[in-house]
Amino acid sequence: MDKICPICGAKSSEKPFVETFCIECRPSNIKLPKKIMIERCNRCGNIKLKGGWVPFSDETVNDFVSSKCKGEFESATYNWRKETAYFMVGTKDALVRIEKEIPLEFKKSICTTCSRRAGGYFEGIIQLRGKKGKIKYYARFLKKQLSKTTFIAKEEDLKEGIDLYVGESKPAISLLRDMNLKPKITRKLHGQKAGKRLYRTTFLLRF
Ligand SMILES: [Zn+2]
Ligand SMILES: [Zn+2]
Repeated sequence: MDKICPICGAKSSEKPFVETFCIECRPSNIKLPKKIMIERCNRCGNIKLKGGWVPFSDETVNDFVSSKCKGEFESATYNWRKETAYFMVGTKDALVRIEKEIPLEFKKSICTTCSRRAGGYFEGIIQLRGKKGKIKYYARFLKKQLSKTTFIAKEEDLKEGIDLYVGESKPAISLLRDMNLKPKITRKLHGQKAGKRLYRTTFLLRF
């Protein structure tokens, strides 16, 4: 005899059943977040996930939200534009797609990099000296690369060369190392913040 789903009225001859319910109506044990809130930088659009700022992309947001869903399902995907999660549940021969709404809200914020930039903050100065053509070439290259990992706070054209003020020293150190350039490095203590010593690093490059 056919079972009849008490929720939708489907018959067991029409659809797979899990005990009393059809597979689409069976009580699922999927645990969803009620709502997701993600901080998003007003200026650059980066988002804050797990305590750090990362570039925004559909995939990053979708993966983050679907990773917050727990329970018995074969797979979970999320579409943030539709604020809907999709789960494949059931057994290998009878998979059913279930949709659940998870509201997503972007909260306006400002990321560390943008707030530092706005405050005139910088940690390092790359001084390019020597042949004019080479200085120009390297300045352009360094600016392009460094604006992917940090920011250029200021650029100064001087008689003796070009000074690039960089937001953070670490990305500058690793870029110069990757480029096999060997700058003369000097560090100066320029203050303290929350008990931490703040340094400014000068990287002198001669061509
Ligand atoms: Zn049903
Ligand atoms: Zn930002």
